[in-house]
Amino acid sequence: MQPETGGRPATSRRLILATRNDGKIRELHAILDAAGLDVELVGADAYPEIPDVKETGVTFAENALLKAHALAQATGHPAVADDSGLCVDVLGGAPGILSARWSGKHGDDQANLDLLLAQLADIADEHRAAHFACAAALALPDGTERVVEGTLEGTLRHTPTGTGGFGYDPILQPLGEDRTCAELTPDEKNAISHRGKAFRALVPVVRELLG
Ligand code: IMP
Repeated sequence: MQPETGGRPATSRRLILATRNDGKIRELHAILDAAGLDVELVGADAYPEIPDVKETGVTFAENALLKAHALAQATGHPAVADDSGLCVDVLGGAPGILSARWSGKHGDDQANLDLLLAQLADIADEHRAAHFACAAALALPDGTERVVEGTLEGTLRHTPTGTGGFGYDPILQPLGEDRTCAELTPDEKNAISHRGKAFRALVPVVRELLG
């Protein structure tokens, strides 16, 4: 398999990943490559004329499917989309699908994290269980669809630690770790992350549907 530009075998099939995040494209590319799948993976930036889809679903799976179907229909190629977030036990699973806009401002990681920490200020360590969750959907232009999921279980710190990663990484300490996700290297995080698990679970699905 080859990345977006150049040198791709004439037999490889194009697979669109519904993201403009290069890190996600590299991560799925590496996983499909390691599995020996002959697929040309391109991001949504290859189709600037196609507008982003509104995430109107109420589960990660619904939102991932909405995005994957929209891109598959618009491009005529198989499409993968993921949706993810942080689920906090004591908040009944919130912020969940609202993780990126928890503070009211979409994509303001610092404000989202600050608000969550303030809400949990009085919650003791033993009640601070949380997990990252990710759903990854594959849709074909003919409407065929599959969804796989992955989680990363952990507990929430009281204060942010570490400078790596993004979003809620500085406060999520994976089970069995003494570091937060923001203190892990990208490879360490990908090996255990919700998204890494969901993307790896996609391999047999891509093999089945794209041959
Ligand atoms: P998306 O579905 O990948 O866009 O993620 C939605 C939101 O969930 C992000 O804006 C983050 O707030 C949160 N999130 C998802 N995955 C992670 C992660 O691996 N680390 C930290 N935050 C995450």
